[in-house]
Amino acid sequence: MRDPAAFRELSALLPGQVKADEPMALHTTWRIGGPADIFVEPAGLEELARAVTWVHRRGLPVYFIGNGSNLLVRDGGIRGVVVKIGRGLSWHRVGETTIVAGAGMGLGTLAALAQAGGIGGFEFSPGIPGTVGGAVVMNAGANGSCMADLVQEVLVMNRAGELERLPAASLQFGYRTSSLLGGSLVVVEVTCRGVKKDPASIAREMKRYLERRRATQPLSYPSAGSVFKNPPQHAAGWLIERAGCKGLREGDAQVSLVHANFIVNLGRATARDVESLIRQVQQRVYLQFGILLNLEVQILGEEEAG
Ligand SMILES: Cc1cc2nc3c(=O)[nH]c(=O)nc-3n(C[C@H](O)[C@H](O)[C@H](O)COP(=O)(O)OP(=O)(O)OC[C@H]3O[C@@H](n4cnc5c(N)ncnc54)[C@H](O)[C@@H]3O)c2cc1C
Repeated sequence: MRDPAAFRELSALLPGQVKADEPMALHTTWRIGGPADIFVEPAGLEELARAVTWVHRRGLPVYFIGNGSNLLVRDGGIRGVVVKIGRGLSWHRVGETTIVAGAGMGLGTLAALAQAGGIGGFEFSPGIPGTVGGAVVMNAGANGSCMADLVQEVLVMNRAGELERLPAASLQFGYRTSSLLGGSLVVVEVTCRGVKKDPASIAREMKRYLERRRATQPLSYPSAGSVFKNPPQHAAGWLIERAGCKGLREGDAQVSLVHANFIVNLGRATARDVESLIRQVQQRVYLQFGILLNLEVQILGEEEAG
């Protein structure tokens, strides 16, 4: 353990919610990632405030994560504190056309609430394995829709543990990005607005999208979804396939044979393997098309020493 005193202090503040040297592979959908020095999953809002104010006082680096479905954590792990926004922050209130959801709620649960409540607009979201908070920060989307179409406002917490409401217009939503990405605020609650719609037709549309996903994505291996953003000219997957990268392998990381913009973990892939594949794909696509593919996945942590 790197900092036993810090671990003891935070554990005393948040009993049962803090772990030391926690393998991040347990908290990413890629099943890859070295240990976080200190890992905390707050049981509620009050506990989150205690964690962020303590981290701030201690001057330690802090990283907020949701379901880790868009994250590559390097093999050397994360120095500092990882705060997982999960079950402890997953309340909800459903109105006529609005849903207020805690940031730790799964996007699939949000979609199910919308369907049951006859609120349309969320049809694109089942199958995206993130939390509501992560989805807003990344402006997750599919099938021509995205979170920016739904979000009215977010409730965020700053490093002093204070809450603030931010209207959607201030969030600078773009293609898989927002002003919240890489910032110091943690999203704790999101207010979404949809439109009144027949629950049965919502269910049909969700089923159709999910079936298309199952047919076109390699869902039997761990991954982080699309690795690269689509450049304006072409889909990244098309470029990667045309550049002859499908099936390219480094250790147990492989450019998926099913969907070329996915890199799958065939078993024991390391972040080093994935990063090496990322560079190879970027190089080949650049040489063939003169297009530099930018990452959609977020990379955190340090390379393994030696
Ligand atoms: C099989 C598969 C399919 C996918 N399909 C899609 C798709 O169709 N469309 C799409 O857009 N994405 C897709 N993704 C990627 C991913 O699911 C989304 O980006 C998702 O929104 C990430 O949410 P998360 O909770 O997992 O965030 P994480 O991966 O944990 O974090 C992502 C970023 O958000 C930040 N963050 C997370 N939660 C918070 C919070 N509460 N407050 C502040 N910052 C926070 C993190 O610091 C990080 O920078 C897919 C992934 C997989 C594995």
